[in-house]
Amino acid sequence: MTHQDGSVVVRFAPSPTGFLHIGGVRTALFNYLYARHHGGKFRLRIEDTDRKRSTQAAIDAILDGLNWLGLGWDGEVVYQFAGAQRHADLARQLLAAGLAYHCYCTPEELAEMRAQAKAEGRSFRYDGRWRDRDPSEAPAGVDPVVRLKMPRDRESVIDDAVQGRVTVANEQLDDMILLRADGTPTYMLSVVIDDHDMGVTHVIRGDDHLINAFRQKQLFEALDWPVPVFAHIPLIHGPDGAKLSKRHGALGVEAYRDEGYLPEALRNYLLRLGWSHGDDEIISDQQAIDWFELSAIGRSPARFDFDKLASVNAHYLQQADPARLADLIRPTLEEKTARSLSGAEKDRLVAAMPFLTPRAKTLVQLAENAAFVAAERPLSMTEKAGSLLTAEAKATLGQLHSTLKGINDWQATVLEPAIKLFAEEQGLKLGKVAQPLRAALTGSTVSPGIFDVLAVLGKEEALGRIEDQSNP
Ligand code: GLU
Repeated sequence: MTHQDGSVVVRFAPSPTGFLHIGGVRTALFNYLYARHHGGKFRLRIEDTDRKRSTQAAIDAILDGLNWLGLGWDGEVVYQFAGAQRHADLARQLLAAGLAYHCYCTPEELAEMRAQAKAEGRSFRYDGRWRDRDPSEAPAGVDPVVRLKMPRDRESVIDDAVQGRVTVANEQLDDMILLRADGTPTYMLSVVIDDHDMGVTHVIRGDDHLINAFRQKQLFEALDWPVPVFAHIPLIHGPDGAKLSKRHGALGVEAYRDEGYLPEALRNYLLRLGWSHGDDEIISDQQAIDWFELSAIGRSPARFDFDKLASVNAHYLQQADPARLADLIRPTLEEKTARSLSGAEKDRLVAAMPFLTPRAKTLVQLAENAAFVAAERPLSMTEKAGSLLTAEAKATLGQLHSTLKGINDWQATVLEPAIKLFAEEQGLKLGKVAQPLRAALTGSTVSPGIFDVLAVLGKEEALGRIEDQSNP
């Protein structure tokens, strides 16, 4: 490649016409990593030229999603529509230079051309009938479009950094429209001008844009501008091999946040989706930046795998700072209890994290498992938990309460032998004590290890909960 480190400029250029879906996020991530790897710039351009379909809500979702993912961009956001005047001016320059021309085809003529192509079983291409025609022949009352004169002979070649050398016969590429009849620039024109104005050196995007790249290349050349390096990434497919759809998880990035995935887990998972570094699965952010190269992007579509994402997420949950996790799940707990957690409850929540994370794959599960920490006395019981609290069990809890009251060094390593001894003295199997104890402490029959639960709750709260469920 001709570009030196430090001079690399890439961009993520979403159209704000829908949510920021997972394929878009991966494109953003690859661009981001490429820029960081080379010490270059990662720019963000909102392609809002389609005025009817672009919405502020979609723009906000893109900005929020990228921020949440930690994919910060360099410089100001560029809004494509803001450059419409310059884009139109450049099209007129091409017109003046004879590199573009007015086309006065009526909608009827185009429809006819389309019908004919269909009848002959070929795809539609404008036949260039106004390319060399004298404008004096223009019909009255038709506002012309401006079309680029595409080369007619031979073929066009792109040396794509992912796809390799790709060739297309120039007769496949018709004279594309640069300005519509109302004078507004087309998307294809705006993309090229913006990429040039932003100094973009590498265009990394989904391979659904590969054919556009041939058109864009001609336009760069007509404007006498350097052509950026193109890198077209294969799209993401669903687990069944079909193109990723909603049913497969082609959801907005906010859906992944709501389902309880950590941004670093999503980054790691998406990085591995179509890019590899040996057999490495867990890749830190720094390693990703150090290792990312376009040459390691695969040429075939990657398949989205929810189980894999969940297991990567589980890994990062275990790595995460307990205080951060507690902060992330606190709103869910507070919503459930309809109150703010006390300082003591917040501390308990943090202390519970090491015991809770091995059992959770998402923050949603983590919050469910942590609910006992913030439960209010007297605890409400699940049906199963309630059925464990027989009169006999309640009596056992009453005796256990007296035993535990005498323990001052309230930690799992002290509580465990004490409770085992208690069970032995009562002539009970440990489960006969532990099960009702778990019910009393958590309102449920599933929880982390019972000694850890006791320790996390602290002496006062734990004894209170036991007392609530015991018979004297
Ligand atoms: N706006 C286009 C899209 O969202 C991307 C264009 C490009 O990357 O060149 O698909």
